[in-house]
Amino acid sequence: MSNETYIEILKALSDAPGTSGDEIEVRRRVRPYLEGHVDALHVDHMGNLVTLKKGTGANPLRVLVTAHTDEVGFMVMDHTGDGDLKIDTVGGIDPRLAPGLEVRVGSEGLPGVIGLEAIHRAKSIDAVTPFANLTVDIGASSKEEAAKLAPIGTRITFATRAQQLGNLIAGKAFDDRAGCTVLTALLMGPPFPCDLYGVYTVQEEVGLRGARVAGYATAPDAAFALEGTIADDLPKDEDVSPTSVLGKGPVITVMDRSYVAATSLLKHVVQTAQHEMIPFQFKQPGIGGTDAGAIHFTRGGVPSITIAVPCRYIHGPIALLNPQDLAHTIALLRAALEGLTPEILHLA
Ligand SMILES: [Zn+2]
Repeated sequence: MSNETYIEILKALSDAPGTSGDEIEVRRRVRPYLEGHVDALHVDHMGNLVTLKKGTGANPLRVLVTAHTDEVGFMVMDHTGDGDLKIDTVGGIDPRLAPGLEVRVGSEGLPGVIGLEAIHRAKSIDAVTPFANLTVDIGASSKEEAAKLAPIGTRITFATRAQQLGNLIAGKAFDDRAGCTVLTALLMGPPFPCDLYGVYTVQEEVGLRGARVAGYATAPDAAFALEGTIADDLPKDEDVSPTSVLGKGPVITVMDRSYVAATSLLKHVVQTAQHEMIPFQFKQPGIGGTDAGAIHFTRGGVPSITIAVPCRYIHGPIALLNPQDLAHTIALLRAALEGLTPEILHLA
């Protein structure tokens, strides 16, 4: 499959609204790509899109590969007397970037803007307004009108549309539509020696919730969590390592707040990358958590590892990624799955 196809899939998935617990549009856009490439497909009670791509039978392993469909965004919690929407965040968003931001409200994508105090009146431009004091303006003129257009529980996303930006791709929700793109590319390719359970999980951003269910239901022998991770690779004053760098290949997480990578898989992935001459990097430091954190202690334990596409400005309205990193992540995962054997996973 060509780089153009990966980018087309990434853009289509990036533009879909899908805050945690409301990922239906992402599932809807993924499904056509999978047609004819998987042997079974269903949506579980959480909303996880669970697929099975049967292996060639060369080995008996069941391998789970996940990517989360949800993105950070907002939810309508109430309405003000003059017709604005009171909001709360769904997942982690920096309040500094919110005022003045264009957003899309509800499944119809109603345009809105997060209210911004005029600079002429602002008491201190250094003060950060907490989300509790921010509202979304949809042009409604009364509480009743606002409640009709955007009832409590309505979801709000960034308004960004994916586009080319120099050699990079810009768009929202690359955490984790980048991972969803990698998973889709794997499923669309030829079968692996093992059975592959490809699961598009839900509610990762609010506590790895879909992955917990998917890890239990698929009872895998090993798991790979695919991510779009932080690249704070711009120049810094001090001598500190960036978490990851755009253009330097897939990012392997050896440890974060949610898990420690299985040493067997870590060794296998690194050796595979070196053998295939695919560039790779390690996440520095191991901040955050991923679906692997929920999967690795399901049932009797699951050897797990997280591999990510580096993305600048995640959890904000516009993220950037390098398409070469996307292609290298797909290539690394394909090679690692092709080379995985029961012997590699065996603990002495
Ligand atoms: Zn993520």
